[in-house]
Amino acid sequence: MSIMKSGEEVMSAALDAVVRGDFSTAYNKYSEAARKFSKQNDSYGYAISSGYMSVLAIALSPDNPGVYYSAAQVLRSLGNVPLKIGLHETTSSQLADEAELLAAEKEILAVVPSSPMEHGARAKRLQDIAMGYRSKTSGRVLIIPEIFWKETTPGEARALPLLAMAEESLGQSLVQENPKAAAEHFQTARLWWMQAGRADMAQTASNYVQSYGLAVKCWFCGREVSGENVHFVSIPSDLTDMLKKTAGGTALPSFNEANGMVYACKGCYGAIFALSESIATQKTQELEVKINKQLEDIRRQLGRMGPRL
Ligand SMILES: [Zn+2]
Repeated sequence: MSIMKSGEEVMSAALDAVVRGDFSTAYNKYSEAARKFSKQNDSYGYAISSGYMSVLAIALSPDNPGVYYSAAQVLRSLGNVPLKIGLHETTSSQLADEAELLAAEKEILAVVPSSPMEHGARAKRLQDIAMGYRSKTSGRVLIIPEIFWKETTPGEARALPLLAMAEESLGQSLVQENPKAAAEHFQTARLWWMQAGRADMAQTASNYVQSYGLAVKCWFCGREVSGENVHFVSIPSDLTDMLKKTAGGTALPSFNEANGMVYACKGCYGAIFALSESIATQKTQELEVKINKQLEDIRRQLGRMGPRL
């Protein structure tokens, strides 16, 4: 019997390491097997062991989407061949699909959109990935997250939060132009979050439905406007009962009954803010002149008293 282990023997040691959950040993073994197959001019063995190596690399760099994409590329180059990851029988195509979806999910979740256009693009991407989970993994539990991170979430369940986030992004992309339509998207998001079992996120979405859907009349100019904190804001005031009464009788509220704050459209609020800023600046300058004059007086007096101190 040869002391040197064959590629196959090293492969089987690698598989044992995966079963044990020792992924860095497994990675090194698959890499060793690939070298042996290469020396033996066994191109099939080399390709297969490289495929395994690329999958194990994901366990070692779980936060790097690039590692997932290169695994998918190596796996696709194998065609559709049966593979065994730990105790799981799978195929190279199945693993390639998973690697691509997981990478795409990681990438899009790292994006922080700022413009309506970016929100729109993010929504489209999230929907595509959710559809990918639905069509390519259907109801089954994904193998890569299960083996490496003990996550037993079926593909369908992975799709739900993505669909919710897509609706939220659609809402954000519309809120400048049409807050009512934005509120409807948050309503749909709320339903997806409920289905995903995320009551906390559903509540947040629900708050957006409330504030984006809320229609009021500006206390100052009487404009009718919806979209709280986007197109109008609440500002503190001193409303007397008589003022409240005179404001009544219209379909839309111009103040908040609960806290007495008045609603100001962004146009009025901006004007009030700019005016108060300029008054404050002017007052500060006046105060500065006054203080400087007083300081000058003190200096002069001290100068006179100087010799006696
Ligand atoms: Zn106004």
